[in-house]
Amino acid sequence: MPSPSLGLELLERLGELADLGHAGQLMAWDQQVMMPAEGAAARGEALATISRLHHDRLVDPQLGALLQRDAEAEPLIVRAVRRDHEVARRVPGELTAEMSRAGSDGYGAWLRARESNDFAVFEPALRRNIDLARQYAACFPEAAHPYDPLLDRFEPGTTTEQVSALFERLRAGLVPLLSQIAMQPVHQSLQGDLPVAAQREIGLEIAHAMGFDASGWRLDDAVHPFASSPAIGDVRVTSRFDDESLTGLFALMHEIGHGLYERGVDPQLGRTTLGSGVSLGVHESQSRLWENLVGRSPEFWTHWLPRMRERFPLTLRDIELDAFIRAINVVRPTLIRVEADEVTYSLHVILRFELELALIDGSLDPGDLPAAWAAKMKQFLGIEVPDDLRGVLQDIHWSEGIIGYFPTYAIGNVLAAQLWRVAQADLPDLDAELTRGELGSLRAWLREKVHRHGRLLTPPELIEQAVGGPLDPEPMLEHLRAKYGALYAL
Ligand code: ZN
Repeated sequence: MPSPSLGLELLERLGELADLGHAGQLMAWDQQVMMPAEGAAARGEALATISRLHHDRLVDPQLGALLQRDAEAEPLIVRAVRRDHEVARRVPGELTAEMSRAGSDGYGAWLRARESNDFAVFEPALRRNIDLARQYAACFPEAAHPYDPLLDRFEPGTTTEQVSALFERLRAGLVPLLSQIAMQPVHQSLQGDLPVAAQREIGLEIAHAMGFDASGWRLDDAVHPFASSPAIGDVRVTSRFDDESLTGLFALMHEIGHGLYERGVDPQLGRTTLGSGVSLGVHESQSRLWENLVGRSPEFWTHWLPRMRERFPLTLRDIELDAFIRAINVVRPTLIRVEADEVTYSLHVILRFELELALIDGSLDPGDLPAAWAAKMKQFLGIEVPDDLRGVLQDIHWSEGIIGYFPTYAIGNVLAAQLWRVAQADLPDLDAELTRGELGSLRAWLREKVHRHGRLLTPPELIEQAVGGPLDPEPMLEHLRAKYGALYAL
């Protein structure tokens, strides 16, 4: 924790960096939630300026000197900031600017390609983004694999080799489970009228039970749900409901899970650059744990289903707990990642990871991407890709030059199951508490194990400390085999 022994000059610099990050987050939140459309161009400029100022301050040699001087005072804080400082210094400013331009051009090309459902329209922009990602990777010549520095932007300390090995085991478990399920009769998902207003009301009740409180949180509408946290006491979550499914309700639990992480960081790390979640994978473990391991369990719905029946008398009045649980846990190979279930989701991610690796190491030409995509969809999920829109053009990430991000989604699923296993051992009454709608001891446990550390520990250190070992796909595979083995009578 920061102590007076950390020099005031360094503390002031960390404070400025945190404030610039705060401003950028707030402007980005506003852009998606409040801003009228015509504000977009000016907002783009303003965000670019904030990000340039942040970068300039971070690479300032004066900061490096202060880190040197105060190295002994707060070794963990200094270590984390020095790492940010050194990574930022490696990448030339022109390359960063070019990546940012190529990302926004790429986004435009992607939108046009989606309109005409034609990958060829997007291909030149993708080629440029891949080329720039390779140039970025080349700034870290000591890396064992050119994908390592790209992955490191989102999951610091985890290597390509480790992710490849993890995903190999995960895939080897998921593909046979999926083919067993696919041989069973298809379960029906929820059908009928589920009014948005009632979903919002019960969503807010669930959010409160999870830890949402009006003094430190906001909930607003946005086209794509997300969570953002300009400060530890200022957590902003967005949601979107539709009146034919409960997707929005699960998305809300997901985003509250992200918010709880940010809200649970030790306040002493506030106004430093360490007062937020440590990596995207660890973040996703929090959202997935609440969305899937809590939110799709019979224990949780033992408490909440009676309340759902009251809210949705037309559709849910007569539904039994078993039928409801089957309906919210339908497994089916589908084309679209963001609509995928607990079993197939990680396969969508592994597919993208393998394609990214091949694009970065040069073994796959961007022009051959749609064919490579289709071949892997057939291999992993057993389905044909009808067109580019439902294939290679479905995700925004590559259009903006974001490569190395996808693996964190599956890392989150894996880690969520590992944490869940330890939580169940540490909290023997957890299942009983869930059936009574009590979520407080789980939240406190997560805060203690994960949230409070902010960015003080590295992700591998945090994982080791929380679950007693490195990332391991076995708890997730066991959870899925047990759960879906029972649901589908395998
Ligand atoms: Zn998420």
